[in-house]
Amino acid sequence: MLLAALAPALLLALAARAQDLPAPLPSLVPGLAYEESFFPNSQYNPSVPTPDSVLGFPLGSRPATYAQIEGVFKALASKSPRCKLVVYGKTHEGRTLYYLVIASDANLSRLDDLKADLAKFADPRKATKEEGDSLAATLPAVAWMAYAIHGDEMSGSDAALAVAYHLAAGTGADVTNLLDKLVVIIDPLMNPDGRDRFLAMQAQNRTIQPSVDDQSLLHTGVWPSGRMNHYLFDMNRDWIFATQPETRGRLRAVNEWNPHYFMESHEMGPQSTFLFLPAREAINPNQPENVRKWEVEFAKDLAAAFDARGWRYYNGEWNDDWYPGYSSSWSALRGAVANLYEQAGIGTDAVRRGEGTLESYRESVHKQLVSSMANLAFLASNRQAVLADFLAEKRKNVGPDASIPAHTFAVLPSANATRQQRFLDLMALEGFEVYSAGESFTAQGKDRLGREIKDMKFPAGTLLIPTRQPLARLLNAMLEFDPHAIPQFLTDERRDLLRFGRSRIYDITGWSLPMLFDVQAFELPTGLPSEAQPKLASILAPAAPMTNSDTSVAYVIDGTDDASVAAAGRLLERGVWVRVADKPFQFDNREFARGSVVVERKDNAALAGQLTGLVSNVCAELSVTAIGVRTGFGPGDLPDLGGEHFMLLKQPRIAIFGRDPIEPYSYGAAWHLIDHVLGLRASYLDTQNLPNTDLRRYNVLVLPDGANADSLKNGMKPLKEWISAGGTLVAIGSSAGVFATETNGLGATRQLPDVLGNKMDDYRQAVVREWEARQTTPDPAKIWAFSPPTEVVYPWLIGESDDKDKEDDLKRRDAWRAIFMPSGVLLAGRVDDRSWLTAGCGEYVPLMYSGKTILLAPPTVLAPVRLGFFNPSLAKPQKTNALAASPDAKKKKKKKDDSKPTPGWTTAPPGFEMRLRMSGLLWPEAADRLANAAYVTRESLGAGQLILFASDPTFRGAALGTSRIFANAIVLGPGMGASEPIKP
Ligand SMILES: [Zn+2]
Repeated sequence: MLLAALAPALLLALAARAQDLPAPLPSLVPGLAYEESFFPNSQYNPSVPTPDSVLGFPLGSRPATYAQIEGVFKALASKSPRCKLVVYGKTHEGRTLYYLVIASDANLSRLDDLKADLAKFADPRKATKEEGDSLAATLPAVAWMAYAIHGDEMSGSDAALAVAYHLAAGTGADVTNLLDKLVVIIDPLMNPDGRDRFLAMQAQNRTIQPSVDDQSLLHTGVWPSGRMNHYLFDMNRDWIFATQPETRGRLRAVNEWNPHYFMESHEMGPQSTFLFLPAREAINPNQPENVRKWEVEFAKDLAAAFDARGWRYYNGEWNDDWYPGYSSSWSALRGAVANLYEQAGIGTDAVRRGEGTLESYRESVHKQLVSSMANLAFLASNRQAVLADFLAEKRKNVGPDASIPAHTFAVLPSANATRQQRFLDLMALEGFEVYSAGESFTAQGKDRLGREIKDMKFPAGTLLIPTRQPLARLLNAMLEFDPHAIPQFLTDERRDLLRFGRSRIYDITGWSLPMLFDVQAFELPTGLPSEAQPKLASILAPAAPMTNSDTSVAYVIDGTDDASVAAAGRLLERGVWVRVADKPFQFDNREFARGSVVVERKDNAALAGQLTGLVSNVCAELSVTAIGVRTGFGPGDLPDLGGEHFMLLKQPRIAIFGRDPIEPYSYGAAWHLIDHVLGLRASYLDTQNLPNTDLRRYNVLVLPDGANADSLKNGMKPLKEWISAGGTLVAIGSSAGVFATETNGLGATRQLPDVLGNKMDDYRQAVVREWEARQTTPDPAKIWAFSPPTEVVYPWLIGESDDKDKEDDLKRRDAWRAIFMPSGVLLAGRVDDRSWLTAGCGEYVPLMYSGKTILLAPPTVLAPVRLGFFNPSLAKPQKTNALAASPDAKKKKKKKDDSKPTPGWTTAPPGFEMRLRMSGLLWPEAADRLANAAYVTRESLGAGQLILFASDPTFRGAALGTSRIFANAIVLGPGMGASEPIKP
């Protein structure tokens, strides 16, 4: 009874508790709070809102979001008379990019004039000596303060808010004196898309109880983390490629301001301390000496500021300065004194350290802002000396005693207008002066393979880029073919490789733009030729989208132009039947390249009156021309339109695999190429779901770099069935390696270590057959002889196996060579001009090589690009043909044993030398290992095909030569190398 009476009340009470069940209090973790004042004893203009009041929480207590940062900067700009907020771009996800100019009244009131003076100061040709000296004495130094280019490196942006507020509202003499001498530009958040992506991960993994374990998800995030931008590009590598809108906006902004000091802030491993410049070797040889000198001075001053607080720091160690595309190296090459901050990454809350202490997020913010303020103060007190050095350096760059000997890069005009335009666009964006040869001229110099050229005739229209210009050092660093690191660095690197099995190289070692972009360039050891004229327009006139629109036969888009591949893909998406030529051809007296796209009226009868409009629209979108041809008759042996050389394409239905274990950069670059450059629809899949994915929806699958045998174990069977039914599988790097193994793989391509020993003969034969097929000229007298020959002369290597060595020995040697594999080097790949995959390539293609995958193709597998270009050697060429006369064949046999040892697993044919390394560090042991290996392989499996790339062809969105091969693979593949049934 009593129970019955009480029960309703009890239930009510329980329900009430359930509604507002209180969260448990956070555990007390001693040391979590960091109470140091950021700017002790400072006074502020009360009409400028504090960051705390805009954020709604104490600045530095947790990472601010993009919107909060934007809010603070807008508030500062609207209330502080010292600020101007400038929009410099938009991210892929639509977030606006800003920088804030903070300056004295006097400077802020004349910003446009100031920028004009700064531009004059950065180009001594535009000012007299007196004017230049006077500007050096009077101009403010411009400090560019840039934060958080990596979206999961949080503390810099919060420090930027504190620094901006202090400079915008501080009334103390420290601020007013500083702004008398400096203009401070703050870019608070260089990668908003990445930061908000990481903050979403933090929010998802947020706990009530403090999480100070840097291995927990709150701190680490999940694939692909927040480091990169939307398409997963590392923008701290993009300064020399400018493939991303964030970078492009920044390049324009920096060119407008010509800063004298350029700081960029990062975070590194959470258990580390704090790093700043100077860097250690390898240092790019183009770095200006005065900048190196100032880096040391700034470092001493910053060290003192940290010592005063007992904070730990270091410089050098892992930080090299070889690659010119980091923010710091790029800005230093422009002439600014650079700095780089790397704070231990706390993420949020705090991180427990090895010694048991906590480093809180707020402390990490504090270190970033103390560094920023110390450097700004040091710059202010050394303004005149820094400016004088800046001017002296610029005068040297344009004067007769330049520290870089005057030379000129010459780039041949090309029918690949899309590629040429990309190159010109980058040159303009970087602020380089480009000229064009008004008439043809003759010059000597060297080509990209390091070959001397003598009296070569350069046609009118050749692009000329002289190093004698204000940005000489950056220009040279980006374009030069083959910079060398100092000998001591080679010694140190080799010792580390041998002693510890690790490299001291932080990034790639070769990047030369004419190679990565694959434009035909030459280095001329002279100043600007007299035939040069200023190239005023960096943008080529857009091509007419169509000629002879009334043709009754076909439209042809020339395959030389990279955009022809995108055109094919987009036409197929719009329901147009498209063909591609696998050989060069000639209609209407006009020559067309291999890979040209052909749209026939007959194929598209169903589209009737719409066809012309569809083709014309696609060509207009891509700035290419569809040429109406009035005949399909090819003169002589050249292909006719109705023959086998115009192959019908199938619309690609593309899927690309991402997420773990795929390498985010490789995925991102392929994603960007398909979605943003080619503009094609695709599906983006989770690799871990591969066994459960209905693959029949697609006819092209892309597996970027990163997968291993374990991760693909359950996917191999469905992949094999899918390929056999007509699919085109494109795999890259380690993922390609999985398909090239004996046990798990598909097809006949193998990795080098698996076939050492007797099996190697097959792979050698493939190399020899390919080459001999290109070189052969049979001797008719021998062919039509009635008697069998007295002797068959075999080509190089055939029947001359050097595998006397035991397999074990070979494996041991290969393991030794493997120690020296390159970390990003540019190699020459010889191109098979009979493969549809290499349409658009020249006789060789420069390619970026890194990673451990070395692919070998037996004769049943095609290798459209192999490592190493065969260059005619100076020695008298010997006849190598099996059926050709060879008077000295016997002598050759005798000499075989004392000839020099066979390099690698095969060699160069007699009369040729191999050119392999183009730019960057390639140890001879690695060169020996890589020579003649396949860069890309293609083999049929059932009705489908397997295409393997040994290394990433879409590298950083900038490897335009090899990206073309990848684009060919995915757009042309379903029609060219695979077959799908006719659907009755
Ligand atoms: Zn970073």
